[in-house]
Amino acid sequence: MNITKQKPFEEILESLANDTNIYIVGCGECATQTQTGGEEQVADIQARLQEAGKTIVATDVAHSTCHELDMKRIFRQNKAAAATADAFLVLSCGGGVQSVREATSKHVVPGADSLFVGNTKRNMVFEEKCSLCGECVLDEYGAICPVTRCAKGILNGPCGGTNMGKCEVDSEKDCAWVLIYNQLKSEDKLDKFMKIHSPKRWNAVERPGRINGRTADEEKGAA
Ligand code: SF4
Ligand code: SF4
Repeated sequence: MNITKQKPFEEILESLANDTNIYIVGCGECATQTQTGGEEQVADIQARLQEAGKTIVATDVAHSTCHELDMKRIFRQNKAAAATADAFLVLSCGGGVQSVREATSKHVVPGADSLFVGNTKRNMVFEEKCSLCGECVLDEYGAICPVTRCAKGILNGPCGGTNMGKCEVDSEKDCAWVLIYNQLKSEDKLDKFMKIHSPKRWNAVERPGRINGRTADEEKGAA
């Protein structure tokens, strides 16, 4: 899921300095899980903005704010409120913010910073394990990603700074290469550990990414 953290309230207020009527949008998926843009956080920011003199014309926690058609549908349903809004404050990842961008031509303000795509360890504990490099090489590394989990992202490790299984960059974190070694050893595949890997194809994924999985007939139907 997309891990976000809410922006400081003063920063949000500054972005909304020239706007009076605010429409707040939250997200029922990732931002709810990370407690940055769920029902509770939307209600909290609503109260704080009202206290700061703003008028809240509507609040909505979309099922998934990154679903562009759904955002357009929500604003169609709340046409009157959307029409009176000076600005839309979006408590979600940057994808959700830009989904709202597609659904209105008015001022759109991000209420959160997007950090990484994270795994959920337990409630409110998230860890980055994949950085979406476009060409997954996990099979070479015992399904532990050096690109993401090694602080230096090295494909032929360890770097030499590993200390008692911890990373020299952050001693609170495990050295990914110790984890890789232990895993490959347990699978009796240390030959993989000795292999020299060539540089990754960093252009394996183009930015901005786009996939159109629709058939030609489906595209024709949509036209
Ligand atoms: S190699 Fe790492 S960053 Fe790339 S897709 Fe696999 S897990 Fe993600
Ligand atoms: S100590 Fe391990 S995880 Fe940290 S940078 Fe070196 S190889 Fe990577």
